[in-house]
Amino acid sequence: VKHEIDHIGIAVESIDESVKFYQSIGWDDIATEIVDKDGVKVAFLPLANQANIELIEPIREDSPVRKFLNKNGQGLHHICMRVDDIHKTLQDMKNAGVRLIDETPRKGAHGKWVAFVHPKSTGGVLLELSQAAGGAE
Ligand code: ZN
Repeated sequence: VKHEIDHIGIAVESIDESVKFYQSIGWDDIATEIVDKDGVKVAFLPLANQANIELIEPIREDSPVRKFLNKNGQGLHHICMRVDDIHKTLQDMKNAGVRLIDETPRKGAHGKWVAFVHPKSTGGVLLELSQAAGGAE
């Protein structure tokens, strides 16, 4: 099994403000997207190997990222690993007693299937699993 980083999620108060730093060091191809059901706007900053930095800005007061920012301030929010078969990975984790936030995958940004793993089971870091759209469902 190869474990690849899909993206690193960073919670920010304002994408417009935060991208200024990244633009200042040469990022010019920054794409944004609204993920309405999570109450967030996200910006993807491409890295090598199809990985990205994902800036996450809450657009509603009931967004979990709003709560995260109120509690922790801006900073690292989650790490996302790419998996070939998200259903199998979730089942394997469940069998291993891993605490899952999402027992079944849901649609994330870019229409990818994603699921979150609880930080209690990962050494304190919120972990997202991601499977490219079009894979086994
Ligand atoms: Zn993410």
